[in-house]
Amino acid sequence: MPPISPQLHEELGKRLHKSRDDVLATVRARTAGDTDDRPAIAPNAHMGQNDDAPAGEMLSHNEEHLAEHETNLLHEIDAAIGRLDSGAIGICESCGREIPEARLLATPTVRTCIACQERIEHDQRTGRGPSM
Ligand SMILES: [Zn+2]
Repeated sequence: MPPISPQLHEELGKRLHKSRDDVLATVRARTAGDTDDRPAIAPNAHMGQNDDAPAGEMLSHNEEHLAEHETNLLHEIDAAIGRLDSGAIGICESCGREIPEARLLATPTVRTCIACQERIEHDQRTGRGPSM
């Protein structure tokens, strides 16, 4: 028997797919704006010169960071949809207990119960967290 009610299952599915669409729309909107007015970077344009622009580097670094954040978010959402399909959603990955409905509704991508989440966050703060 699935750990969550059919109603919760449906609600989480709706929220996860909506979140996924939102993230994809954000990425597309920014990607479109970026590529339209920026010339393609030719790697050999400054061959022999070493005139790196620090401001440009910083900008691209920020964009990379954002994209990485969104990529991680999409991974989380896809994983949650997978768990929803397989019936594993709503079960703490760490201790195997049921995750309360309110917590699932607040954060559909959540994978652990509150107690385990707090322990994991504590471990990360103290540098003992599991390395992914
Ligand atoms: Zn747990």
